[in-house]
Amino acid sequence: MANLPRSFSVSAAGMYKQCPRRWKHRYVDKIPDPPGEAALIGTFAHHVLEMLCEKDPEKRTIEEAKKIARDTWPETENNSDFKSLNLSEADQKEFRWKAWTAIEGLWGLENPSEVNVLSTEKKISATLSDVPFFGIIDRLDETSAGTAVTDYKTGKPPDPSYKKDALNQIVLYAAAVQFETGKLPAKGRLLYLGKNSVELEVDISEELITKSTGQFAETWENLRGSCEEDTFDTQVGPLCGWCPYAGICEDGQKEIKKRLAAGRMRPDAPALQLI
Ligand code: SF4
Repeated sequence: MANLPRSFSVSAAGMYKQCPRRWKHRYVDKIPDPPGEAALIGTFAHHVLEMLCEKDPEKRTIEEAKKIARDTWPETENNSDFKSLNLSEADQKEFRWKAWTAIEGLWGLENPSEVNVLSTEKKISATLSDVPFFGIIDRLDETSAGTAVTDYKTGKPPDPSYKKDALNQIVLYAAAVQFETGKLPAKGRLLYLGKNSVELEVDISEELITKSTGQFAETWENLRGSCEEDTFDTQVGPLCGWCPYAGICEDGQKEIKKRLAAGRMRPDAPALQLI
């Protein structure tokens, strides 16, 4: 029997729903899942924006963001995960360019000098529908409508049919804020940062919170069942091509090969290096 985790995050719930076996490798077997290039670009961009938004409003300029990016770059450059990517000079330049495009993308959606920032990178624990929730909220803002819960994304915006799933995350963060403060936030915002930045926004309501926390609790109960029975089924799909555990997963390997043969797997999918 595997132990239930002491807290459950949005990303852990998402991983369990995507593939219980992947969740087990990550959270029970604790097999390292080093962040890839895209995740490290996101970490760097988040860090720069966090530092920027901690400054006085009038100092939140593009020039200041450039300065923070320059000053903090050595931290990333010397990070062991970054070093393990073994990027060439040209690839490192491309990495910095992608990160900067994300950072600059914020100005395509708002002027950070005009935002009333309450907090950045706020760690939050809550009990949501009896589930021990933990998350880190990128930014909490005060707006004329009330508190806004904001999350930065450096990946692609979701297809329209996945928008609700994407917004579910921000509703859970809003529920955690309500748990902590007793007040219902007004809005949840997902800011997809890049060349063509996109904002997804949702008005937070009690009804939405009940629905999202209910789904979260359902995932938690399924996880409880998996842990009690020590059964973590594989769930194959296109994401097997991006799974760090493909090398030890027979079902995933079969799926990758099948998709590759059918032209339904990108030839640069990272898991191809593992099988
Ligand atoms: S390779 Fe696919 S099936 Fe196997 S653990 Fe990863 S996501 Fe799950």
